[in-house]
Amino acid sequence: MILYDSPIFGPVKSRRLGVSLGINLLPKDGKWCSFDCIYCECGLNSESHATASLPTKEQVVERLIEKLREMKAEGVCPDVLTFAGNGEPTLHPDFTDIVKAVREVRDEWCPSAKISILSNSTRVHIPQVREALLLFDNPIMKLDTVSASYISDIDRPVGQYDVKRTIEGLKAMKGKCIIQTMFMKSTDGRADDLSEEYVGPYLQQLKEIAPRSVMIYTIDRATPVKTLEKASHEELDAIAARIRELGLECSVSY
Ligand code: SF4
Repeated sequence: MILYDSPIFGPVKSRRLGVSLGINLLPKDGKWCSFDCIYCECGLNSESHATASLPTKEQVVERLIEKLREMKAEGVCPDVLTFAGNGEPTLHPDFTDIVKAVREVRDEWCPSAKISILSNSTRVHIPQVREALLLFDNPIMKLDTVSASYISDIDRPVGQYDVKRTIEGLKAMKGKCIIQTMFMKSTDGRADDLSEEYVGPYLQQLKEIAPRSVMIYTIDRATPVKTLEKASHEELDAIAARIRELGLECSVSY
């Protein structure tokens, strides 16, 4: 299980994002998420024993400037400031104000850096949250499949969730979102979104969402459910080719 420091962690060199300085709006000692994915590197929600409070906007700004000052002294500038960490960043009650404050810090301290977010899309249907997501250079939004039952088994939403509502929210981002999709299988048949039953309807919805690009990936580290397996290079390449046939850019992380 991996937990990230809060409110700032890294910098880390990411496969997809370059030198990324992380911003974690969740508690540093536990996970807080509106999904409970069986592949989550932060562990299952039931294993979380978070006691720390959420960072305030002031703490985020102060620690971010401190870290950027430190990096500048070493001659390093982040390529990206990434909202991610121990759960879903949009759950923070001051999410919008924090995003605006981080943009101001970026403009002053590292204007060339992009601001990204890894969001699970569970709150994209809420207009205020969507507006805040649109303030990001790279709003990277999770959509693992469009099958409600697969999402219920694998992403395991906490509380009410409606995939159609999520898809409408992603469409309302009007081509500015980047869709991120996990493909994997398992030895016990519990997970497998590589078959046509899932890929066909997913491609159909991608076409309608018309995102700026698509990132597909597979499990990379230890997962809480031990039967999960990586999708193969060939399987991912075949799906990427079909996404590109739709006229969409697609990157693959194996
Ligand atoms: S959405 Fe991300 S943080 Fe939340 S449970 Fe899934 S993998 Fe973990």
